[in-house]
Amino acid sequence: MKRRTFLKNTSLGSLALGIPAAAMSCAERSEENKVADAGPGGPVVLATWNVNNATKAAWDSLAAGSSALDAVEAGCKIEEADIKNSSVGKGGLPDRDGNVTLDACIMDHTGNCGSVVYLQNITHAITVARSVMEDTPHVMLAGKGAEMHALSIGLEAEDLLTPESKAAWEKWKETSQYKPIINIENHDTIGMLVMDKDGTLAGGCTTSGLAYKMQGRVGDSPIIGSGLFVDNEVGAAVATGLGEEVVKTVGSFLIVELMRQGKSPQEACEEAIRRIVEKPGSNYKDFQVGYIAMNKKGETGYYAIHKGFWATQYQGDENKNFESDFYNK
Ligand code: ASP
Repeated sequence: MKRRTFLKNTSLGSLALGIPAAAMSCAERSEENKVADAGPGGPVVLATWNVNNATKAAWDSLAAGSSALDAVEAGCKIEEADIKNSSVGKGGLPDRDGNVTLDACIMDHTGNCGSVVYLQNITHAITVARSVMEDTPHVMLAGKGAEMHALSIGLEAEDLLTPESKAAWEKWKETSQYKPIINIENHDTIGMLVMDKDGTLAGGCTTSGLAYKMQGRVGDSPIIGSGLFVDNEVGAAVATGLGEEVVKTVGSFLIVELMRQGKSPQEACEEAIRRIVEKPGSNYKDFQVGYIAMNKKGETGYYAIHKGFWATQYQGDENKNFESDFYNK
């Protein structure tokens, strides 16, 4: 469908009538108690896990007239600042040597993107990623260079290792034999996809990565195409879970390309999970991966390897938390 036709038929058409598209589709959503493929149209905020404060902040940003990109940044920042979230930003669990290192990326509707890898001492990795995209000629900055750039744009250096994270790390050291797999319950990279009222898409992804990882380990979250991909003509996808497996299948790009070929967001997420688990010799029982996706009609989907993955959707009335269907039944 041509963009102009889509806008006429969905979100803008309904806005012209004074009826928010969101309100039109929510009744349908509540009835079925699922988001997948419900549509139609934006605005929509969709995030990995139960992050009601983050999705609400993104929605509020849209409601105040900000862009989808602003909304993504605003939403991700909520979780980065929440020291109770031990997988993102300040309070994130450290690597096995006690260093908290953050990865993040962001992508806009023009295909521009920015990313930070192994960022230390700065809470808002998503803001640094956005600045890499907007203020530098580069796509990725790593380590000390990323930190120096963050300081140069006015972000403050902070100790990201909270007493709680430090205590958890010390306890882990007492018994752990290092095994780089992800506990099915213990991860929650924040991935967020936003469509504004004009149907413009943006996405972001922020994490402290795999808890107690080897020093220097980087996962999928800052890798454009793996942790996140946005194509404003087609849709967007974002990943959470064991990044190594997402990278091996370039999961988010795969989902967007499958949607381009006609699959719904739900079908595309399911196929991307199958690509991981149906590889010869896959040890998928030992790790979790979850995807969320959205297409240009505002239809959404989500799927994971195991039970326990959640997505949150906000469309202007209230947050809705949806437990994902999963492969390993
Ligand atoms: N995907 C992240 C990583 O592998 C971890 C997570 O989602 O918790 O770094």
